[in-house]
Order: sequence, then structure tokens, then C-alpha cells
Amino acid sequence: MTNISSVDNGATVIGALSDSKEVFDFSNTTSTTGSPMEFEPGKKQKGGTIHAAYLLQEGGNATEATKTEGIAHELFHGYQQINGEKGNDLNKEVAGFLFGRGIAQSLFKDYNPTMGNPNTPEGQQFNTNVNTLLNNQTFDQKLHSETVSLFPKSGNYGSK
Ligand SMILES: [Zn+2]
Repeated sequence: MTNISSVDNGATVIGALSDSKEVFDFSNTTSTTGSPMEFEPGKKQKGGTIHAAYLLQEGGNATEATKTEGIAHELFHGYQQINGEKGNDLNKEVAGFLFGRGIAQSLFKDYNPTMGNPNTPEGQQFNTNVNTLLNNQTFDQKLHSETVSLFPKSGNYGSK
């Protein structure tokens, strides 16, 4: 958390979560979705729980960078919730992937494992697009839309 808030975008998200007066908990419980971690909204979309037993697994192969990416991703879902983001879940999920990867790359310079399935054209293209979007100086709406469209076939967690 301290790491994440040392990055500008991360500080914005953590600050908003803190200011919201809502309770966002990390819980030593397992994700029910097949993803390593899961953000479960609280009652009436207030606060929420991040099922994060994954972070404590002994002997797992997750690196600090991977864990940081996952934490940032799930916290971003909390941020989307307090901002009242509704609608397209694919959009919200892709935004979580972009945010998580962006934070992780800010903190761990050479961190760049393939996102999604590296053995399918859709997985490869999704990965390429995410990197392009993160490295672009300006927001490319068209590429972003294409990336959201690719997401269901990308083989990423949460894509089905
Ligand atoms: Zn997600």
C-alpha cells in the first residue's frame, strides 16, 4: 500500500478510498472467481472486501511485482465503485488491468509478464495493446475500444 501510494495515480486512488469513509478490507479468504484475488462490493455498494489469501500463500510463485499488480487492480475496482461507475463490466475490468499493470511497472522497472494467453492471437494482441496504451503519452480511444473488445478472448482472469 505504501508502495502503491508512492506512484501518482496510486496516491489518487488510495486517497479517494481513504476519504470515502467507506471500509475496504483485505481478507485472508480465497477468491471465488478463479482470479487470484477478488473485489467483493459491500452491501448497497458501500465499501468492500478484497479476498486476498493469495498474497499470503507460502511457496507460491507470485513475485512482489505480481502481488502489487493484483492489489492495485482490486483497489481500482473499489475506486470505480466509489465513483459510481456503472455499466460495461468489460470496460471496468480492462481499466483494472491497465491500472494494476501501470502501477506495477512504475515500481518494478522490468516487470512485463504477458497478460492473458500468450498462445492465442487475441492474448498476444491484448498484451501488445495494453503496453501501447500504457506507454502512449495521449489516450488512444480507438485502441482502447479495440482492447476492450479483445478482452473476452484474451485468456485473462475475469474475461469470461
Ligand atoms: Zn478485476
